[in-house]
Amino acid sequence: MVIILRDNPAQKQIDSLVSWLKEKNLDVHIVKGAEQTIIGLIGDTSKIDIDSIKTMDIVEDVKRIQEPYKNVNRKFHPDDTVVDIAPGVKIGGGNFQVMAGPCSVEDRNQVLEVAEAVKVAGASILRGGAFKPRTSPYAFQGLGPKGLEILEDAKNKLGMPIVSEIMDISKLPLFDNVDIIQVGARNMQNFELLKELGKTKKPILLKRGLSSTIQELLMSAEYIMAGGNGQIILCERGIRTFETATRNTLDISAVPVLKELTHLPVIVDPSHGTGNARLVKPMAMASVAAGADGLMIEVHNDPVHALCDGAQALTPEAFGSLMESIARIRPFAYKR
Ligand code: PEP
Ligand code: MN
Repeated sequence: MVIILRDNPAQKQIDSLVSWLKEKNLDVHIVKGAEQTIIGLIGDTSKIDIDSIKTMDIVEDVKRIQEPYKNVNRKFHPDDTVVDIAPGVKIGGGNFQVMAGPCSVEDRNQVLEVAEAVKVAGASILRGGAFKPRTSPYAFQGLGPKGLEILEDAKNKLGMPIVSEIMDISKLPLFDNVDIIQVGARNMQNFELLKELGKTKKPILLKRGLSSTIQELLMSAEYIMAGGNGQIILCERGIRTFETATRNTLDISAVPVLKELTHLPVIVDPSHGTGNARLVKPMAMASVAAGADGLMIEVHNDPVHALCDGAQALTPEAFGSLMESIARIRPFAYKR
């Protein structure tokens, strides 16, 4: 339930309404937006008499929220959330960022070479997997802690924040210097992991599950936010459909749909979305046009010899050309 307050409500009246609501065992969230102040209620609101709240001087309207996600719901928080990644690097609310780098960290030279190239081309965040969720147990599993060390070196050398995937909460202490913790598609519904990440203050990049609905993605984000961490970036990365021409089917409609339903920033990963380097640029352009707050792009200095996802990796040159194309589209991007 949300209680929408009239303009400039008296603090004393807000306080007495809030303490009355708390006595009813409700979790009370006050959101002071640019236009309105909203009191969001989580818990059993079935016994609350909406009509009597509506008669209060400071109350403009009261609405029940039908959706099962509350904290991440735009009705709860009408203004866009801006996630603060590092000094000068924000995403959401009109701030657009590109995360780029190799699928997996392979060695120091590879990461530095790719990091320098994507930085020059305009990427603001370096990606790289140290713990890799691979379909085959015999495939390269990532360098683990050593991979995170290499990423951190690149971060320090280039002054670029880094994003990397966590697969197991026991590894959380290793992520102290990682600026954005990624939850991959395969772990989107690892609820114990989400609950623990909810207790941290780190920005979380939550990727849509391979076969997850938009509502399931939002429920997973709700797990993180219910734990107290609202610094969440959602990522559309393609879903399983009957189509086999692409690795996944990139659901670009998820961008405007999500931006209507939630205040969280939404980015797109056209690399995993298509699985094909030639398709990454057109789908990146489409994602920007649809209003995405950012992109995640896999780039490799030698895609043919990549240890993981070489077929979808852009060369640094192709990435530079993608960055030029999206810069031309951005002024015309859809805004809700
Ligand atoms: C990745 O970004 O490295 C990755 C494994 O992506 P996804 O979880 O979307 O498959
Ligand atoms: Mn990959």
